[in-house]
Amino acid sequence: MARRAEKFDEITDVIVAGYGFAGAAAAIAAADAGKRVLLLEKMAVPGGISICSGGGMRVATDADKALAYLRATNAGSVPDELLAAFAVELTRLPGELAALAAINGAKLTTLDRPASYALAGHDAFQFIEVESVPDFDASTEYPNATSLRAGINAFKVLDDNVRARDRIEVRLSSPVERLVHGDAGEILGVEVRTANGSRRIGTRHGVILACGGFESDAVMQRQFWQFYPVLPAATRGNTGDGIRMAQVLGADIWHMWHFHGSYGFRHTDPAYVFGIRTKKLPDWVPGLPSAPVRMSWILVDQTGRRFMNEYEPYAHDTGHRAFDRFDATTTRFPAMPAYLVFDEAGRRMYPVAKSFINDPEIKTYDWSQDNLREVGLGILKRAESIAELARLMKVPEPALAETFVRWNRECTDNSVDDFGRPAATRVPLGSPPYYFGEVWPVVSNTQGGLVHDVGQRVRNPFGEVIPRLYVAGELGSIWGFLYLAGGNLAECFISGRIAGGNVAAETALAP
Ligand SMILES: Cc1cc2nc3c(=O)[nH]c(=O)nc-3n(C[C@H](O)[C@H](O)[C@H](O)COP(=O)(O)OP(=O)(O)OC[C@H]3O[C@@H](n4cnc5c(N)ncnc54)[C@H](O)[C@@H]3O)c2cc1C
Repeated sequence: MARRAEKFDEITDVIVAGYGFAGAAAAIAAADAGKRVLLLEKMAVPGGISICSGGGMRVATDADKALAYLRATNAGSVPDELLAAFAVELTRLPGELAALAAINGAKLTTLDRPASYALAGHDAFQFIEVESVPDFDASTEYPNATSLRAGINAFKVLDDNVRARDRIEVRLSSPVERLVHGDAGEILGVEVRTANGSRRIGTRHGVILACGGFESDAVMQRQFWQFYPVLPAATRGNTGDGIRMAQVLGADIWHMWHFHGSYGFRHTDPAYVFGIRTKKLPDWVPGLPSAPVRMSWILVDQTGRRFMNEYEPYAHDTGHRAFDRFDATTTRFPAMPAYLVFDEAGRRMYPVAKSFINDPEIKTYDWSQDNLREVGLGILKRAESIAELARLMKVPEPALAETFVRWNRECTDNSVDDFGRPAATRVPLGSPPYYFGEVWPVVSNTQGGLVHDVGQRVRNPFGEVIPRLYVAGELGSIWGFLYLAGGNLAECFISGRIAGGNVAAETALAP
């Protein structure tokens, strides 16, 4: 029998696929356990979606209360033992983040932010953000990336930690294409595409898949979601590769329907493949005193009527869900696309959208402050009357006119809205001109992926572990029904550290 070394072009201790937060956290943990780590990134730039994020990392002050909330929001979609372990980890995360931040003197800030829904335990949570990093100029260091808020600072912290560890080697433009396995299904290495062709790399301990979800994979989306298209928000790199590779080995998958996202515009230049999400307005918690701000727009579907609360409590998470209604009488999705409408005063309020992307070849589209550049580009259209608006939108004029009347009445009498939109967020549609743009569901990140145990070991549908195969980050996300804001980033750090530590503890394979 051939020696393992003869089957591979090179051998290392641990291989990590994907250089976002999860991959970085996994690589750091494995390196700190004394292993040599090869961190392989598909794109020419690191950071994945992570670098574009708001950088809000969820932590908990009380594990029992956090568990109650996680149970309520996951609705039985993931095993309780995972939630229980995760709740405890959330209480430990502040210490870990502080240790990582010490690398470059980054300043962390803790914000009191209850979870999005007033369910048991919702008040046991806070956010940690990397407020600043000394001498860090994001536009010089990561010129291809733009970030919602502090995600780019958090990436700098991880990137500096990776660079400080000699045991970690990073290779960009190195997509992992296949897992190499032995007769018992145990993972022996990977096949990687390089500029010089395919390369087989062996591992002594195992492989961690941290290569994100399927935000940019239209084929997988068509299989798991009924509506389409759903536009990716941030990166072209995440195309479900980890799911496909692990499925070859018999991996189980969970809650593939669930994704974190909202609604947004399509650029009129087809080369800009990303959905441009509507402006992120502050979230609010139903049933609790909060001050949601004024939202300049309403949405109508192709019948000319409103169909959802445009300002849901956590609109950037669940904002896409109402678009997924199929009308069996017309055999259409009436809200695909929907129309976002505002008036002249609304146009002047603030930019209605903004894009955050990480791409080596596409520059972030910079939405104009007054929303006028987009009118010039045709992303938004202008109408001088309701009749013209209806004609351009191709919706029935009487229905649209009635929508205006009803909406304006709700704005003045503060009556209960059909869809639950809070009175404080409502802005009347006054005099023309009016503006509208087609909006589509936008996926910020997927939550479905590989089933795993508490140790981040990938499992098959019989609950058996696939030897030496680990998962970290959103590829194995535990968010099965209602997402906890900041939970994805917390999960990257927690699952990455656990996967990195456990893979390092695997008995080394013989040469
Ligand atoms: C605008 C925006 C704001 C957000 N804000 C927040 C927030 O504030 N808090 C929060 O918790 N979550 C937030 N999220 C979600 C969060 O950013 C992601 O869920 C999380 O960063 C995913 O991290 P990851 O490491 O699992 O994946 P990624 O960061 O996407 O990294 C995966 C990497 O794997 C690479 N890859 C893919 N396939 C392969 C392959 N075959 N071989 C090698 N590499 C591969 C990809 O190119 C990518 O670099 C936000 C998302 C968006 C879009």
